[in-house]
Amino acid sequence: MADDIGTVRASCLCGNIRYNIDLPRADYPLRAGFCHCNSCRHVSGTLCMTMVFPPKRFQPSAHLLNQMHSFQFSERCTQYSCTTCGSKMLERQGSHDLVDSQVTWGIMSGTLEKADGVFEVKYHCWIEDTLDGGFSDFFQPTKGDHPERWLRGEGQSEKSPLFWQSPTFLNAQPPPQDRLHAHCKCGGVSFYIARPSTQSALGKAPWPDVLIPFHSMAPKPQDGAWWLAAGGTKFLAGVCSCDSCRLACGVEWVEWAFVPVSDITLDADGRTSFSREFGKLKRYESSPGVRRYFCGGCAATIFWDGDERPDVIDVGVGLLDAAEGARAESWLQWRSQRISFREDAIPRAESLILAAENGMKQYGHKYQGIPFK
Ligand SMILES: [Zn+2]
Ligand SMILES: [Zn+2]
Ligand SMILES: [Zn+2]
Repeated sequence: MADDIGTVRASCLCGNIRYNIDLPRADYPLRAGFCHCNSCRHVSGTLCMTMVFPPKRFQPSAHLLNQMHSFQFSERCTQYSCTTCGSKMLERQGSHDLVDSQVTWGIMSGTLEKADGVFEVKYHCWIEDTLDGGFSDFFQPTKGDHPERWLRGEGQSEKSPLFWQSPTFLNAQPPPQDRLHAHCKCGGVSFYIARPSTQSALGKAPWPDVLIPFHSMAPKPQDGAWWLAAGGTKFLAGVCSCDSCRLACGVEWVEWAFVPVSDITLDADGRTSFSREFGKLKRYESSPGVRRYFCGGCAATIFWDGDERPDVIDVGVGLLDAAEGARAESWLQWRSQRISFREDAIPRAESLILAAENGMKQYGHKYQGIPFK
């Protein structure tokens, strides 16, 4: 009997929340979808929510759910996260009066010990909300079918081609914003980012893996404001696939913008300087000297902050409200040629990482003029 059951372990970053998914082997690979809607971006802090949908025979125990923080994501959906580290774990889909067997559960894919063989990404939904295509262009499988690309709900809207852009995005240049609002879904964390200035280049920070691979052991330059790009007019942004980011968030990977703290204020007028304690911000020390901040209300991933880098903080790109779209391209220059710590992610999720690397390089070729290789 046990031979017919496939067990997959799920856990949060701190390890306080752990459970097993025990399903008949025939159920695998499970269906998964990437949702790019405004709510999913702001509730995760990332460019899309990566969720796995097991058959209804999967029902987490009341004991497990009672250990977690719950957030009413929408009228129909409740999300569950670790109170200690903020990792998003599960989403209950269905009205309150449904009996358990009628409820659909979404499992945050980043909490699973393995991706390859466990789930397959079948669709993108709500691409329309991104205006610029968001992460959907960053995900282009090298083998097999591309996921379906729904503009709105899965199966309930038109599909969109790769590199789709909203007519809004194409036809109207949005008025330039002086400050970029960043906020989580529940509003418990809200702050503003100014355009880079000469001041933004001050400060010191060690070079990140997304620019110089940690594994290469190459000597890292000592100086240089690597967090600025496009002649100092934009902040660098990149995708991190390290286990710690994945588990802290519950999403496959986390998109970070590298922003000097001097460019962040807590109010729209730029008067209230940044601090590391405001609103519903909670923090979890994921390793000595490294702090991960999340919202105590909706559990959105907010910042990565390290002692080695006091002047520059990593901001979750999903929090940003850039007028031009989810990728915030008037503010951010995407590092398209490397996914940070991809070496760590390959054993667990090779097909996903290859798809994201391919998509980002296709993006780099199309929009940044970088030869595809
Ligand atoms: Zn935890
Ligand atoms: Zn969504
Ligand atoms: Zn929140």
